Amino acid sequence: MDYILFDLDNTLYSPDRELFSLIDRRINRYMNEVVGIPLTEVDTLRRAYWHRYGVTMQGLMRHHGVNPEEYLGYVHDIDVSSRLHPDLELRATLAAIPLPKAVFTNSSRDHSERVLSALGLNGVFEEIFDIRIANYLPKPSPEPYHAVLDRIGVAASRCIMVEDAVENLRTAKELGMGTILVGDLPASPQVDVHIQSIGEISAALNHWAVQGAS
Ligand SMILES: [Mg+2]
Repeated sequence: MDYILFDLDNTLYSPDRELFSLIDRRINRYMNEVVGIPLTEVDTLRRAYWHRYGVTMQGLMRHHGVNPEEYLGYVHDIDVSSRLHPDLELRATLAAIPLPKAVFTNSSRDHSERVLSALGLNGVFEEIFDIRIANYLPKPSPEPYHAVLDRIGVAASRCIMVEDAVENLRTAKELGMGTILVGDLPASPQVDVHIQSIGEISAALNHWAVQGAS
């Protein structure tokens, strides 16, 4: 294997941190206060757009003329450091993996940098590929995967993807990547290795004979 792609939210930190609930509230507020969607319709619309497009933002862009940059800035305007703290053990674990690493996220670069900084993971990843990489098309659409592989110059079959969302691993698997699912979730055929938390990543990589240095 030549490269590892890591999802960010709920992968590099536990969903128990409930960081996403802060973003969630910002999305609802944006839809109501900025776009003018009645509060009673916000939940149904979010669910519909999420199912149809993978992220709420695509629905808001297509059906409400929302500016994606304004949206990304607004919904990620949260106090990351209130929920996340430096994880020095994870930093050491990731640093010991002898492969280049990148973040591949449906969020924004600014948000990713704040999260990595709060977790004490600055400098661990060579690149951050965000929702902008394929014109705001999110995982699990294949376009951002192709764009990322293009940028890193690695064949899908030489790449491992680490994620908490099974549907995002499905695309990875279809493209030929190795897949690691992180979290307390049911087993699934698109998953090569299933771990409960990111701290177990070194053991998971034994599946491809990638040895951690520690
Ligand atoms: Mg995630």
